[in-house]
Amino acid sequence: MAIPRFWREIDSRYNLVGTRCGNCGDIDFPPRSVCPKCGRKSLGKMERLQLSGHGTVVSYTVVHDAPSGFEAIRPYSLAIIELEEGARLTSQVIDCDPAEIGIGMPVEAVFRKLGEEGESGIIHYGYKFRPSGKAPPMEGQD
Ligand SMILES: [Zn+2]
Repeated sequence: MAIPRFWREIDSRYNLVGTRCGNCGDIDFPPRSVCPKCGRKSLGKMERLQLSGHGTVVSYTVVHDAPSGFEAIRPYSLAIIELEEGARLTSQVIDCDPAEIGIGMPVEAVFRKLGEEGESGIIHYGYKFRPSGKAPPMEGQD
């Protein structure tokens, strides 16, 4: 089945846009064209939904062997985050030491530049999560 044009136009790299099933109310991120819970009953009933970006860590892992391109930030933590709307997603957690991460920790989405593509100069952005309500580090403190 072809993905409707509408869905391909949603750019969830810059916006946490998910979908809500008009049949059962299930919320998903990234957006789906068919509800994973009620399947065909949801056809034509999926609604676009802007997500708050606030959630909590439900599970996490600290990655020590960073893949190529991530060497500069290793080790890093990868968490399964449940958004307050109910959707779950996997994301890197930044702006905190991997040892500080815990299950139930409140986090918020941030958009960061991920990299720049050589000569073309195309800049890639993506979402990551950081502890919410955490004050920025004070200058002069280590
Ligand atoms: Zn559904």
